[in-house]
Formats: sequence, C-alpha cells, structure tokens
Amino acid sequence: MDEFDFINKIKQKTYAQSSIQKGIGDDAAVFSHVNKATVTAVDAFVENVHFTERTMTPFQIGYKALAANLSDLAAMGAKPAYYLVAIVIPEHWSDSQIVEIMTGMGSLARQYQIDLIGGDTVSGTELTISVTIIGEAHPDKVRYRHVAKENDIIFVTGTLGDACAGLHMLQNKKLFKNRSYFIKRHQQPTPRNEFSLLLNDVSRVALNDVSDGLANESAEIAEASGVSFQLYDEKIPVHLDLNQFKKSHQQNCKYFGGEDFELLGTVSKIEWPKVKVAAEKTKTQVTAIGYVSEQKESSVFVHNKDKSIFKLKKKGFIHLT
Ligand code: ADP
Ligand code: MG
Repeated sequence: MDEFDFINKIKQKTYAQSSIQKGIGDDAAVFSHVNKATVTAVDAFVENVHFTERTMTPFQIGYKALAANLSDLAAMGAKPAYYLVAIVIPEHWSDSQIVEIMTGMGSLARQYQIDLIGGDTVSGTELTISVTIIGEAHPDKVRYRHVAKENDIIFVTGTLGDACAGLHMLQNKKLFKNRSYFIKRHQQPTPRNEFSLLLNDVSRVALNDVSDGLANESAEIAEASGVSFQLYDEKIPVHLDLNQFKKSHQQNCKYFGGEDFELLGTVSKIEWPKVKVAAEKTKTQVTAIGYVSEQKESSVFVHNKDKSIFKLKKKGFIHLT
C-alpha cells in the first residue's frame, strides 16, 4: 500500500468538530477557535520502550497511544477536539497492522468525538507513534498543577495499580483472578475527560493524570504548588482483587504503577462537594485520599493504619525521552 492509499484509508469522511476549516488533504490542517485557550500536548510511543507486540495488539497500541494524550487534556481541564499522528513504520510491520493501529485510535476518537486532522507517515527502523492532541478551554478554567493550597482535599478517580497488575498478568503465565479486567485496564485505559470537564464550576482545582504512578504525580503537584501531600494509605482506592498479590507488589503497583490514567487532584473543602457531583454524573469513582499541608520542602508523606509515617520517594516509571 502506498502512502496515498494509506491516508485515504484512515481519512475520516466527516468531522465532528465544526471549527475545522481543513483536515487531512493539504500541507497543513486549519481550524479556528474564538475566545478560547488552545491546549495541546504530544507524546511519542516507541516499540519495545512503551509497548511490545507480545502484550498489545496493533488496535490496542493505537487505542492506548491516543488514550494517553486524551488523559493529558483531561488533566488540563480542556475539551479535546483534534489529533495528528506521525508514524514511523519499520519493514516488518504489515500494512494491515498499521491500519489496525489507526483503527484503534479511531475507535477511541469516535467515543470522545475528536477528529484526526493530519499527520505524517515515514519508514524507519523502530515503530514509533507520535500523537499530538489539541483541545480548547475557557482561559480561566485551564487546570494547572501549581494551584494546590494548604488544607485542600486530595482526591483520585477510579482505582490505582490496575494497569500495573494487568501488565504483570500479561507477562506471567499463571492463573490470575479477574485477569481480563486487569489486562483491559493495561491495554485500553479510560481517560477521565468527561469528569474533568464537569468540574467547570469549581473555581480552583489542581489536576494531574496518573501516567507515572501516584508517588510521581503527587510530587509533581506538591513541587509545582510549594506544598506537601499527606496521604492515608488505607484510603487509596484499589481493586479488591489486587490482594491476590503479595503485599509488597500491591504497594508497588498502588504507588509506583503507571498508566492507570486516572486523575489526581486537590480542591478546597468548600468545593469538594462539586467534585463529588461531577463524579456521580459521570459514574466515576472518586475518593478523598488525604490533605495538603504547608511545608517548604514539598514532600509526599504516607500515613499508615498503624500511625507510622513514611516519605514517598519520587520513583516509578519516568521516561526521560
Ligand atoms: P506533505 O508531503 O505535504 O507532508 P503528506 O503526503 O505527508 O503531505 O500528507 C498528505 C496529507 O495526509 C496531509 O494532510 C497529512 O496531514 C495527512 N497525513 C499523512 N500521514 C498521516 C497520518 N499517519 N495520519 C493522519 N494524517 C496523515
Ligand atoms: Mg508529509
């Protein structure tokens, strides 16, 4: 299949976003927003670094690549609108596999009503997918990491550690309880855009998405805001069946397991009920897991049930490139 046929195959017949003036088909795409902040993010996914053919189908690789970008916009409080895809294709990947990658992305894109408006297709040695997402927000409602304040409630959506457990199950041929649930959470995560957009009547909320683990994301908000985090270990939501693993593995997934794509946030006690309403409306689980304290060194502390306290190290999966 030549590039022309490939582009024709992945090109949408119609666009959901009326702001698009030109999608695929010219040297660049064109859209216009009036009185809105444009919010954009890009992520690169490289074979054998971020995914392998052993644990993900091509459909799932595409799905997850776009999910990670949608999650970034959820963490900014922005409404996602368009995406562009640059793909580097090695010889050993077939045309139909590449089309499947794009089909996986398209399937998630339809659910979130976003449009593919451009990209680039080239050959190379390592399968690499770079997705650029573009969205919009009211300029006063962009959600930053630096706005957490002392006495805020710290909350998180969903359950943590599922994707980490799912990857472990894919890599080990043993029998596991609820295997399909955990594996799906690894292969096809659910970004929390709907929930994030329904926070629009909250005046101040710090948000970050859990792509590199709770420890890392907590530290990022704490450092950006110049505050400390106090987390209660027993309040951090995990799936019941995470307990099939030994305690150290459970803790590892819960604090350092990445790619759950849940949202971590802080909000004042007064506005916390609004967060719960947004959660109810979108059928999203939301849990208060601690509070923000004023402390100059910006650390994350974990309080155990037995009243012991330890400092959480900022490890987990940090991709530097
Ligand atoms: P140019 O030579 O001007 O860069 P291309 O032949 O690379 O144009 O692409 C033609 C059109 O197809 C452009 O609109 C481009 O954005 C789009 N396109 C190319 N590759 C992809 C892709 N992988 N995903 C989405 N759109 C693509
Ligand atoms: Mg090109």
